[in-house]
Amino acid sequence: MEIKTLKIGKKNNKLTESIIHDLRASEDIGVNKCIQCGMCTSVCPASRHSDYDSREIAKRVLEEDESVIFDDIIWNCFSCYSCHSICPVGNSVAEIVQILRQKAIAQGKLEQVVTFLAFGESLMELGIGSIPLEYFNILIEIIGDEYLDIKINLDDIREELGLGKLTLPEDDTRDIKIILEKTGFTGRLEKLKAYKESSKNSKHKG
Ligand code: SF4
Ligand code: SF4
Repeated sequence: MEIKTLKIGKKNNKLTESIIHDLRASEDIGVNKCIQCGMCTSVCPASRHSDYDSREIAKRVLEEDESVIFDDIIWNCFSCYSCHSICPVGNSVAEIVQILRQKAIAQGKLEQVVTFLAFGESLMELGIGSIPLEYFNILIEIIGDEYLDIKINLDDIREELGLGKLTLPEDDTRDIKIILEKTGFTGRLEKLKAYKESSKNSKHKG
């Protein structure tokens, strides 16, 4: 039987090094220190509810398995950071996955990101993260009328709880829009919209 070992410290460590030095990675991220204890998987909701396995992601990265970048499984993580908090050696599968996704996007893999388009548009419009309108009916289906009640009476509920309005003042929304434009967010959103349209068109033709 072939015994596979992790190749920690091997010379060709392009993938691990690029993750460690990525701007999104914590300064002291322990990618190379992973001991495959599986504690991240034990607390990972994506691992519990799908074929995703956070320990496996950490392992594939250590093995320099670049195919992980294009594996749809990395899109099952929803960035809850439970793995990040529990890892005994300071590794962060949460950060690793975000970096892997950016690598995939940079190489033109956009079909998974299209799901997030509505969230981006909603951020552009309101200046805050919120659940886009297009998910409204699905949520009513899942949660029931209670969700509808909350949506309709949100301002009153917030007032009762001593909270202010959920929406931002107009000036703040405008400033956020400017920031999103200057940082390239708007441009990326436009590219994503164009990709969505072209995929729709090619489906119609097909
Ligand atoms: S990333 Fe951390 S918690 Fe997960 S297997 Fe490696 S050492 Fe364990
Ligand atoms: S951030 Fe992703 S990998 Fe980490 S525990 Fe949450 S779902 Fe799992």
